[in-house]
Amino acid sequence: MPEVAVVGGGVMGASIAYHLAAAGVDDVVLHERGAIGSGPTSRSTAVVRLHYSQPLVVRMAAHGLRVFASFRETVGAVSGFTRTGLLVAAPESERAALERNVAVGRGEGATTELLPAGALVEIEPRLAAEGLAFAFEPEAGYCDPYLVTAGFAEAARRAGVRIEEGSPVKSLSALDAGIVVVAAGPWTPALLAQVGYELPVRAAPTEIGRYRLPGGFGSLPPTVADFSARQLYFVPKPDGVLEVGTLDPEHAERTVDPDECPEGASRETLAAFGDALVSLLPAAAGGHWRGSWSAVYDVTPDWHPAIGHVAEGVIVAAGFSGHGFKLAPAVGAAVAELVRDGRSTSYDLGLLDPGRFARGDLVATTYGYSVLG
Ligand SMILES: Cc1cc2nc3c(=O)[nH]c(=O)nc-3n(C[C@H](O)[C@H](O)[C@H](O)COP(=O)(O)OP(=O)(O)OC[C@H]3O[C@@H](n4cnc5c(N)ncnc54)[C@H](O)[C@@H]3O)c2cc1C
Repeated sequence: MPEVAVVGGGVMGASIAYHLAAAGVDDVVLHERGAIGSGPTSRSTAVVRLHYSQPLVVRMAAHGLRVFASFRETVGAVSGFTRTGLLVAAPESERAALERNVAVGRGEGATTELLPAGALVEIEPRLAAEGLAFAFEPEAGYCDPYLVTAGFAEAARRAGVRIEEGSPVKSLSALDAGIVVVAAGPWTPALLAQVGYELPVRAAPTEIGRYRLPGGFGSLPPTVADFSARQLYFVPKPDGVLEVGTLDPEHAERTVDPDECPEGASRETLAAFGDALVSLLPAAAGGHWRGSWSAVYDVTPDWHPAIGHVAEGVIVAAGFSGHGFKLAPAVGAAVAELVRDGRSTSYDLGLLDPGRFARGDLVATTYGYSVLG
């Protein structure tokens, strides 16, 4: 009987398996129903930023940034981490909230600042900045989410973890393990219902377009998250491409069966993204879409994950609500401690306690302009 069974081979399950082995837990098996990274993880835009409203989440994201930037040395694999810098825009009316979140970040050691008037042009002069306040995080960037997940899984395998692909778990009790960790993204609620725990997660489809910038655009812009009415973000990629998506929490009102998520984005979505992009970055006019995709967010009522025990010998790490990629190294380290020692000493996970939903004790976000953690 394995000491620990991990269900799910997305970035969370792979990181948890790796960290369990690194923590000296020597009989670990990871079950992934398809291939490693075959769920939403590999479709993530995988932006790694520290701009959050909760100090705990800033610390967890900072851990991720450190690990991804040194992945070859720490994990022995390639993360594809590419530093782009991040501009966070909010309406002028939300300047105080933006400033508060910058202060939360700085309090946790993040390199970030509220930009004084005139400073934006030094970073990105092509943005239509009227009516917006900006914060800048120069160390932010993005990863290749598949490479990170495969890298964690391969390092776990080298350390003795059994990685079982093509291994769908139907019944948790049939796993016959001392401890089961369920990290099955939007498929988690159905599994945890077997042990009487109700995880309130919605599977919300989200769409991403690949926009080819026009000739003559010049150097790529930084990553931008615009929390004004546009609710738009874009990430610069090689070959003059921006990956463009929405920050609008409203899109999570629409739910799908996670096994039936469409592959691409709709024409209407791309048209709306295109209009918003050109109004924010007028120099992008004249570009064109070069494809799109869709994938599912596993959204909890407060847009924060559930990490902790839900039944005797059963731990959950799910509900990452569209912003979990960057947290995976910290989640792996914390869950390995939960398994080995019964509690995490690296992070006080009380805020993310799975029992909070039943208690009605949701995480409050002080963002003002967003719900994303
Ligand atoms: C389009 C998009 C953009 C995003 N952008 C960002 C971003 O910029 N920054 C950021 O930090 N985060 C981002 N995220 C969120 C981030 O990617 C996710 O929070 C993270 O990948 C979740 O990982 P996971 O391992 O929990 O879940 P998943 O990737 O859902 O993995 C769960 C795995 O469990 C497997 N599984 C399910 N049921 C079973 C079963 N019964 N038995 C065995 N295996 C099972 C599935 O096949 C799947 O591989 C984005 C997400 C999306 C979809």
